[in-house]
Amino acid sequence: VDQRGGFYPTRLGEMFEDGRFVVTRKLGWGAFSSVWLARDRLNDRHVALKILSAYGSKRTATGQLTESKVLARLASSNPSHRGFPHVLPFLEEFTFESFAGQHVCFVTEPLSFNVPTLRSYLPNKVFPLKLILNLVEDLLKGLEYLHDECGIVHSDLSPSNILLRPFDLDEIIMHQLAEEPSTIYGFPHTVSPKDLPFHPVSSIPLPFFHKSDSGERLHWVITDLGEAQFTDKPLTRIAQSYALRAPEVIMGLEYGPPIDIWSLGCLMYEFIAGQWLFDPKRSDDIPMEIDHLAQITQRTGEHFNEAVLQNYALRKEIKDITGRVILEKFIPHLYCWTEMLENAKARNSHMGLVGSDFIYNKADSQEVEEVIKFIKSCLTLDPAKRISAKEALNNPIFEDS
Ligand code: ATP
Ligand code: MG
Ligand code: MG
Repeated sequence: VDQRGGFYPTRLGEMFEDGRFVVTRKLGWGAFSSVWLARDRLNDRHVALKILSAYGSKRTATGQLTESKVLARLASSNPSHRGFPHVLPFLEEFTFESFAGQHVCFVTEPLSFNVPTLRSYLPNKVFPLKLILNLVEDLLKGLEYLHDECGIVHSDLSPSNILLRPFDLDEIIMHQLAEEPSTIYGFPHTVSPKDLPFHPVSSIPLPFFHKSDSGERLHWVITDLGEAQFTDKPLTRIAQSYALRAPEVIMGLEYGPPIDIWSLGCLMYEFIAGQWLFDPKRSDDIPMEIDHLAQITQRTGEHFNEAVLQNYALRKEIKDITGRVILEKFIPHLYCWTEMLENAKARNSHMGLVGSDFIYNKADSQEVEEVIKFIKSCLTLDPAKRISAKEALNNPIFEDS
């Protein structure tokens, strides 16, 4: 048995906590965990079990995992806040031992697709604008709750950590469990969670994306508090997946909640354009961080001020490179946002999607301009001037503003 990842080789039908939880299917997996649907026989409900790998379970040397503390704080914060429904509902936690070591297991509400899985169903991988606006609005509410109510920075807002809440969980699960071929219930042969196919709880009929006004508003939830941090002490450690990393994180400066807003801006662009906003590369003479900062300057049209660069360890390098690369090479080709949106539009029509409700044909150019302005306000270089989740929610592009 391969023990490298320390993943627990969960079996379908397996029971935890003296028979209270019965595993019914696999929902997903990540770097430190596999996630399973289970029946909670004590409370007669479906739950999700996030079983951390032995490695993930002992990431902090001292006592309780940060993820446990974060989830506990979420569960004890104000449930009537408008963002509460948009952050993963944590129910409880338990631990158990295996040959690999100790495993922490979080019991949470079962959710449906994550964004990449949902997007993989779309012909051109691009969501309709209305859906993106609803999604971003839900994320902003969730972030407002995390930042203002709970004192938490998520630090890993990414597509695979954004999940859809199913419309009618019990009915869907009953239906799906009845329909699924028994072959997917095979036991995994190794401890790698990749070996067993996973089956998200599907909740949307796919024609949803081809209807003009489906009438049903999707509800999105921020999950995976595995990298989250409390804002009561200064934060400096490297955080966030690299392409979504805020400039203050790249530079190793002190940071806080605004880093989540930066990631959100990058994601909104990605959802609209169907490609990453920043794709930093390392080359012979340019470190990846510098290329990233150059791309940021290029795409936002903003320059880092000297006071900020003063604090940056790679300052000398950046000075040389701003002189040579940013100014001479990139700036003359300043990225044009309108052009980006035009390209996305052209790609959609190329895919034969004009005439359906995809992306811009329903959005007037005024709305597109407002969306670009909004993305830019999330990508303000100075974190103190970057828009907050609360402020952003007042923007009329969002339903509940
Ligand atoms: P990462 O590699 O992103 O750090 P992780 O090990 O911290 O991952 P999660 O992101 O929490 O784990 O979960 C892994 C995957 O499992 C998610 O991308 C999602 O598809 C699925 N998943 C997690 N929680 C749930 C849930 N409550 N309901 C349904 N699916 C879930
Ligand atoms: Mg994750
Ligand atoms: Mg994680």
